[in-house]
Formats: sequence, structure tokens, C-alpha cells
Amino acid sequence: MANDLYPAYPPDLTAEQEAYLLTNVKDWSIAHGLAVRPTPAYVPTKQDPSGALATTAPVTLFPSLFPRVCFEQAKGVATAYNELYSAIASDEGWLKGTVEELLEIDDFIAQLWKVHLKVKEEGDVQDLSLGLFRSDYMVHIDPTDSSAKPSVKQVEFNTIASSFGGLSTQVSALHKHLRSIDAYHDSTASTSTDDALPDATSVPKLAEAMALAHRAYGPSSSALPTCVIFLVQDPERNVFDQRHVEYALNTNHGVRTFRLPFQRILDDTALDPDRKLLYTPPHSPSKSYEVTLLYFRAGYSPDEYKSDRDWHARLHLERSAAIKCPSILTQLAGTKKVQQVLATPQSPHLKHFLPNENQAAAVLRTFAPIYPMDKSPAGLEARRLAQNPSAATRFVLKPQREGGGNNIYRSSIPQFLKSTPESHWPAHILMEMIEPPAQKNSIFRNGEVATGGVICELGVYGACLWRSGVVNGERRGREVVENFEAGYLLRTKGMGSEEGGVAAGFGSVDSVCLV
Ligand code: ADP
Ligand code: MG
Ligand code: MG
Repeated sequence: MANDLYPAYPPDLTAEQEAYLLTNVKDWSIAHGLAVRPTPAYVPTKQDPSGALATTAPVTLFPSLFPRVCFEQAKGVATAYNELYSAIASDEGWLKGTVEELLEIDDFIAQLWKVHLKVKEEGDVQDLSLGLFRSDYMVHIDPTDSSAKPSVKQVEFNTIASSFGGLSTQVSALHKHLRSIDAYHDSTASTSTDDALPDATSVPKLAEAMALAHRAYGPSSSALPTCVIFLVQDPERNVFDQRHVEYALNTNHGVRTFRLPFQRILDDTALDPDRKLLYTPPHSPSKSYEVTLLYFRAGYSPDEYKSDRDWHARLHLERSAAIKCPSILTQLAGTKKVQQVLATPQSPHLKHFLPNENQAAAVLRTFAPIYPMDKSPAGLEARRLAQNPSAATRFVLKPQREGGGNNIYRSSIPQFLKSTPESHWPAHILMEMIEPPAQKNSIFRNGEVATGGVICELGVYGACLWRSGVVNGERRGREVVENFEAGYLLRTKGMGSEEGGVAAGFGSVDSVCLV
């Protein structure tokens, strides 16, 4: 699998060498919480009735090779992306114009918008917003230019529940540990300098951003102790990923945190007359806390909103004075529709939101071609390509959804369109597939090693705290309070798989070995 970009790697191991490596991966992973709860398919519920078991998270055995220029490029543009998306999330009028055509045909987006409007009508009581973003990229090499350097192209920008920051820090430490115990033999990973295996700093950085938001909220006005809420799905297999950030927030910053399942919002929280969000833990009903920050690791999928009560619960949170990470406007800024509108050639929007020309140019360089599926001239051309069986193989069709498993790939697109009413086509965007160069690696998942061609997706976290909006009837301009890059994530999947989601069951967590 060696090519112009990547040398032959990793080495072929003898059975004894692989056994040594695997034993260390298994033990180190559990000893350091590089772990997930097992799926029922892997460990049947009757064998673990109390839910006590955990297993190693899917990981690559070796850190994958990654071009240093691409890594630097992606990290270098993180603060510009924070600026861009905080500006978009603060421009309600622009967002409305952009998601408007979705409101008629995408019930989930329409419901979110309705919740936002209800809060707007009443007036907001919190002008701070926290974004813990993750911009995802793949390496692109221009096939028409033999001297072209590799660069990164953006897959998507996440504004809600950007996950794997916890496990990312652990997997980069695992790979460094394996190198230090000579498990990598005479390979690129064993001979590279520390500088080629950069620490993934997402745990301390994400926790720091949350602590900054917590402090910016100010002291409790209700004379109650304060806390940060992690709003979570229940059950959650990827719980240790979240726990790493939670424990760092506790340990490094002394912030009290609680996990609140989405279904329990209305049971365990209440609003006081000033709309302060008060949380009463079910295990300690005589004690309440004022919630400073609501960190969403749930609430991004329509499946979670089973009834009106669930939408009422979301409204209840959105109305509150807690800082939302994210607010509904920030969540909507992360739709694939917004990404498509920004990526439209010659569009004025990027410049409008990012007046700094260098920043705008750096962001622009990361865009891959994305087309609308509406009746605009570009949309009609996209429809033509998407319906054509041979042209469609260059594309992925995406609805406005998060969390993996929602896209339609390549040759499946024409059939999907045939079975979907034309009036619903504009709920999707059509994106050209980025074709990153493959390399070889081994993925250890559910107790089994699979070795072969893999491709990597780099995520760079961004933390942004800003003030904006109308509070107590007064319109405020946007003021960015904190803006920093917050570490990286590498996810790696087998070449045969279209999806890369680790939680969705296709990929693995990885770290970079810069070349
Ligand atoms: P989600 O919000 O569900 O994660 P993504 O846009 O990230 O949706 O798509 C899911 C996965 O599909 C990505 O992790 C990546 O593996 C693959 N994918 C999406 N868009 C592209 C693209 N343009 N080129 C190559 N792969 C893509
Ligand atoms: Mg994704
Ligand atoms: Mg996403």
C-alpha cells in the first residue's frame, strides 16, 4: 500500500510480535479508560445484566501516517472556523434565510426552529454561547497536478455533540506507550521523533473551555451551589469518552458535573422565576444546583424526540439562563445546508462573516465542492448528476442529520432519489467524495484484528465562547470572549466502508504519525 505520500508501513509482525502488541493494547486500554460499553451483539445483555462490563474501544494498532502540512493546515484554520460559526450562529436573519427551504420538508429542522422562535418571542435571558466544535477533514491530492502538495478538504463541521475528544487523548497516549515499549519494531512509528507523534490535547482543552464558560456565567444568584450538566443519551455506549472530559473538569477546575439523560430533563430540572435552571439529582432530592452550562451529548437526532414532551423538554432548556453548548441557533449553523451555502463558489457569505481576508482564504481552501438539490441552476445540474448512475459514483448525498449512518453514497444515490418525492430532494446536499490516499494499518475492534487498506479522517476541535443576541430587550453585537483550537482526533476506517463513524460501528480511533 506504499504510494508517493506514504512509505511502506506498518511492518509485518511475527505471531509473537503481534501477540505482544495486542496484549499491551488490551491492558493499557482498560487501565486508561480507552474503552466503551459492549454492544449487545458482542456481549448479550443476559451475560451482563447489571451493565458492569466494558471493553476496549476500537483502535488502530499503529498510529496512521499523516502529512504534516495537512495537520498544520487543519489546526491552523481552527480559530477562523470558530470565528465563522460563532458569527453565523449570531445572525438569526441569515440562518432563517438559509434553512427556510428546509422548514417545509424537514420536520426535525422545523421543530428546532419553532423552539427557537418561542424563546425569541419571550426574550432570551442568556447572551453567552459556548461552541465546542469539530471540523472534520480528509487528505486531498489534486489528481490533475502531479506536483500538487496534499491539502485537507473539509468533510463536515460539527456544532453539536462533537464526540471522541476523550478517547482521542487516550489513543495518542496509547500509541506513544507502544512505541516506548518497542512494540513498533523498526517502523516509521518507532523511529520518529516525539514531534511526529503530537499529543492529542482534547481532554484538557475541552474541559478548560467548559470551565471558562462556567466561570463566565458568574456566581449563583439563587444562593445554590453551581454545576455543569452533561445532557446524555441513555443508554450510552461511548460513556468513557464523555467521562474523561467530565473528570478533567472536576479534577483540573473543581467544577461539579452531573449526567442528565435527555428523557429525565423535566423530572430533574426546574426553572425559577428568573429562568435560572435548577437541577435536583434524583439520588439527593434535598439538594439543588444552579446549572451554569448545558453540554449536549444528546438531542441531535430526531429519534430522541419521541413525543411532544421531549420537544417541551428541549424548549424548557432553551428558555433557561444556563449557557447552552450549543444553542439551537448554533446547532442549526452546523447543518450541511449551511456548509453547502458557504462553499458555493463566489458566494459573498464567507467574506461577510469572516472579513479578515487571510482567514477567509484559509477557510476557503478547505472547502470541497458541494451542491444544493433545489431548482436553482446549480441545483438542477446537481440533480442531473445525482440521477445519472455513472456520474453519481463521485458523490455522497447528505440529509440534515448528525451522528452517522444517514448519508447515501455513490451508486445508491439514483435509486434513493427515485424512491424519494422530488419535493424532498432539497432537504439534501450533494457533495463530491474526497478520495484520500489509502495506507495499510490494523484495526482492533470487538476482540478481532483486521488488517488492510484504511483511510483516515482528521477532526480538529475548536472552542469558542461568545456573547450575542437580544437579552432583556436589548440587542447586543457579537463579542468573542474565548477562541482557541482544542486538540485533534483521527478516525480510521477500512477502505471498503463508506461511513467512518466509530460509534456507528464502522471505524476506529487513531492518532497521527506525521510524515
Ligand atoms: P455525520 O454528521 O453523520 O458524521 P458526515 O458528513 O461526517 O456525517 O458523513 C459521515 C461519514 O461519511 C464521514 O465520516 C466520512 O467517512 C464519509 N463522508 C462524508 N462526506 C464525505 C466526502 N465528501 N468524501 C469522502 N467521505 C465522506
Ligand atoms: Mg461526521
Ligand atoms: Mg456530523
